[in-house]
Amino acid sequence: MARSLAALLVLMLGVCAARAEVPLVLSGEARQGGLLIGRTSPAAEVELNGRRIRLAPDGRFVIGFGRDHPPQARLEIRLGQARLGRDLVVSQRSYDIQRIDGLPPAQVTPPPEVLERIRAEAARIQELRTRDSGLAGVLGGWIWPVNGPITGVYGSQRILNGEPRQPHFGIDIAAPTGTPVVAAADGEVVLAEADFYFTGGTVMIDHGHGVSSVYSHLSRVDVTAGRPVARGERIGAVGATGRVTGAHLDFRVNWLNERIDPALVLAGGR
Ligand SMILES: [Zn+2]
Repeated sequence: MARSLAALLVLMLGVCAARAEVPLVLSGEARQGGLLIGRTSPAAEVELNGRRIRLAPDGRFVIGFGRDHPPQARLEIRLGQARLGRDLVVSQRSYDIQRIDGLPPAQVTPPPEVLERIRAEAARIQELRTRDSGLAGVLGGWIWPVNGPITGVYGSQRILNGEPRQPHFGIDIAAPTGTPVVAAADGEVVLAEADFYFTGGTVMIDHGHGVSSVYSHLSRVDVTAGRPVARGERIGAVGATGRVTGAHLDFRVNWLNERIDPALVLAGGR
């Protein structure tokens, strides 16, 4: 009896000690379209919704929540025998939805001869989004890639002739053609193309920990794939290339395949 009580006490102490052993600090608020930076022991293993999360050498990590992420997320951290679970409440947002009916079909569907090209370009971007490198640019802060009024917001969606189109995942920043565009954070250029069908002149930068940024409709591209860039370094210029009606920069941020709201990232809200 005394022995099993003692064993129980040791077990309980063990559990308490284990709890205390898993450090966790989260900075920022979990919300749809947001990034959160966390910190734990560099020796820990972190999972978000069952997905393994990369840790920086100092124990920092990045997690993100897509446009339609459900209200709950589960963060699990293991450190040796110790475990820490945390249910995160992900703030839900409402988005601008616009319905337009009675459009001629040609405005809804691209011509069949370009469909293959569109698919190939989308596949390249999608594959690059899955990169999960150890680059630390995402942890070092962000600046606006160009200054100007915001003419398109994250998450908005059009329903054309009753068919929901892909939501707008970037922010549109209006600026005259030729205005320099700079890297929003340190990273490495992973894609630099002068002429994608939808996005025209397009640059994609890997900032590490699954976070990438994409700059579209550029009138010129001043970098090449494989090259490191520093935050604030010129990568191209604003244009109206691809399928657009006027000069602007479409600026996107991804965390792996989740689309992140660039306005939150730029506001420091992550
Ligand atoms: Zn856009």
